[in-house]
Amino acid sequence: MNDKLVYAITPNQHVRILACTTTQLCEAARRQHDLWPTSAAALGRMMSVTAILGAMLKSEKEKVTVQINGGGAIGTMMADANCKGQVRGFVGDPHQYLVYNDTNKLAVGLIVGTNGYLKVIKDMGLKDQFAGQVALQSGEIGDDFAYYFTVSEQTPSAVSVGVLVDTDNSIKSAGAMIIQIMPDALEEDIVACEQALSTLRPVSELVAEGMSAEDLVRVVFPDAEILSEKPLGWYCDCSKDRFKAGLSTLDKKDLEEMLHEDHGCEVKCEYCNTVYQFNEHDLNVILGFKAACGR
Ligand SMILES: [Zn+2]
Repeated sequence: MNDKLVYAITPNQHVRILACTTTQLCEAARRQHDLWPTSAAALGRMMSVTAILGAMLKSEKEKVTVQINGGGAIGTMMADANCKGQVRGFVGDPHQYLVYNDTNKLAVGLIVGTNGYLKVIKDMGLKDQFAGQVALQSGEIGDDFAYYFTVSEQTPSAVSVGVLVDTDNSIKSAGAMIIQIMPDALEEDIVACEQALSTLRPVSELVAEGMSAEDLVRVVFPDAEILSEKPLGWYCDCSKDRFKAGLSTLDKKDLEEMLHEDHGCEVKCEYCNTVYQFNEHDLNVILGFKAACGR
């Protein structure tokens, strides 16, 4: 079953629900970065919620980037997504495999850490950028995003996200669901949400049993109306031109050093590990462009 995201709302329009299955997306990330189980679960959870943030964007020109650093062994984690369902991500240390002694569950909170932040940057296409940042609560990712929505976006939200890693280290199932209380919600809507959530089983287990994104919504709100749905998948939109634009923001002195001492440079895309070579001619073009712009 291909990954999918659905956007739904309760009949009284007081609660909105976004749910997605992300098994293949997480498996693509695992293969791309050779992720070990705890790193795979951490990045998988982060990308699954970032996919939903992408679906909340208003236009195709927009993009949302999430950065998490909690001071733990996994280092900095990055993920981004757009409203077309294209998602990508990477982590500082892909080779983390740690479990909690008592539950034997993957110790995501331990490798992420809680001494740090979750930052959301929305790129509106032009120069307009919105950034919200909150302190990490547990490092387990789901709680941290719930705190972000509630504090930074002032939308009370519940986030359920999970990644199941199989015995051969491949991704068995993954998914996420966000339930948000709209401003005109009543006390009874909030109570209904709390009741539904109190009995909700981990989404990764539900996906492992074969549930679709729509099924996830129906578990919590059987009468919710599905407003839209879209496919999700791993996609990196890097290109040599994008890195050229990045290089042109460097100091003239640094570029000249690369040109005269190293006779070129290479840049690696952290998301997909593609390496782009810039030879002397490329660097001269960039320096020429900077000179023409008076920089
Ligand atoms: Zn790339």
